[in-house]
This record gives sequence, structure tokens and C-alpha cells, in this order.
Amino acid sequence: MKDVPAILLFDFPSSLGYHLPMQGDIDRVLISQQQLATRIAELARQITADHTPPRIPDGDEITIVPILTGAFIFCADLIRQIPLHIQIGLVTVSSYPGSSVSSKGSQLLGQQLGDVCGRHLLLIDDILDSGGTLKLVVPMLRELGAASVKSCVLLRKDRPQARLVHADYVGFEIPDEFVVGYGLDYNNYYRNLPDIVTLKQQAIERNA
Ligand code: 5GP
Ligand code: MG
Repeated sequence: MKDVPAILLFDFPSSLGYHLPMQGDIDRVLISQQQLATRIAELARQITADHTPPRIPDGDEITIVPILTGAFIFCADLIRQIPLHIQIGLVTVSSYPGSSVSSKGSQLLGQQLGDVCGRHLLLIDDILDSGGTLKLVVPMLRELGAASVKSCVLLRKDRPQARLVHADYVGFEIPDEFVVGYGLDYNNYYRNLPDIVTLKQQAIERNA
């Protein structure tokens, strides 16, 4: 057991001769799993410091609200490195339904938040693109009486609309391209890719 690394980094060596249909659909790796792990550890340290007294006078408790489905892997990796008392609330929003590769407007599909009145909330999303999702969810949480609402996005696209919407924590700035992996999907596929990647055009057409 002592030789098992703390974080298992997944490698799909094509040299082993396995048939790797998903890996064959990748055009470029934009952010590798190693880069993700390093940056997520930094974000976790910063979030922990910002939510520890005296910065938050009334205690070391937060409610983390991942925006499903895309944020589930990022959130799982992030919160296991935040040693605070954490509750979880869930919100499901759809912006890129089905085989869309551009935003079709953000729609609240469901929520399982519990009582967030008076609590410090940290929204977690996979990517800030048009900003529609944060503009929908942040006011909704404020109306529920949260003591504070902050937001953390793993990725922010380099486009003017994304810069107009505030996010308290940003993992990486990426070019304005459609990406998948590490929770992000195309037509509900590719969420299980360990890196953030772009897809080959033929993969987009095949999965449409
Ligand atoms: P926004 O509401 O800021 O336009 O976009 C946020 C949501 O749109 C994200 O949570 C994500 O679900 C989806 N989205 C935006 N850009 C991309 C992308 O490049 N790839 C994927 N898979 N989803 C995206
Ligand atoms: Mg989303």
C-alpha cells in the first residue's frame, strides 16, 4: 500500500494497444490533469484562508454549491482540500443542452439547497462563458437570505461577456473555444476525460 501515490493521475497509454475511442476524439489538450491538480490545490488554500476567522468573523463554516452537472468533478477535488466545516447544496442549471456548442441561455432545472439563510455560500461552476449561469444563480441565493455569496469557476473564457461578470476565484483563463473533459460534456459525453481538451470536428459531428 505504501507505494500508492496520494493522487492517482490517470494515463491512458495508447502503446498498450487498447482501443481508446474517447482519446481518439481529442484535438488538443488545453490543461493537463497535473496542471489542474496544482491549480486546484492553490485555489483550495486561498478559499480556506478567506473563510477562516478573522476574515469571516462568525466562524469557519461554509456551504458549497456546485452547479450541476459540469462542476461535479472539480467540486469533488476542491472540497477534499478545504479543511473547514462544509455543507453541500445542489443546483442544476442547463446552458448548453444536448449537442449545443454555444449557450442557449441558462435555465434552472432543479435545486436541493436546504436552509441556506444566514450561511456563507460558495458557488462552484466549471466554466464562465456568457455569464448567464452566475447571473441567474447568485441573485437567487441572495434572495434566500445567504449571509454572503461568492463564486469560484475553474475556467473563464477569454471573451468580453465573461469579463463583465464577477467571479471571486478563477482557476484558468482559456481561449474562446468549446472544451470538454474534467466534468464538462458534449451531449453528455466526455465528462470522464481527466484533462481539459478540445474535440476533433469529426467527433463533434458524430456525437451531435
Ligand atoms: P455561461 O452561463 O457563463 O454562458 O456558461 C456556463 C455554462 O455553460 C457552464 O456551466 C457549462 O455548463 C456551459 N459551457 C460554457 N462553455 C462551455 C464549453 O466550452 N464547453 C462545455 N462543455 N460547456 C460549456
Ligand atoms: Mg454548467
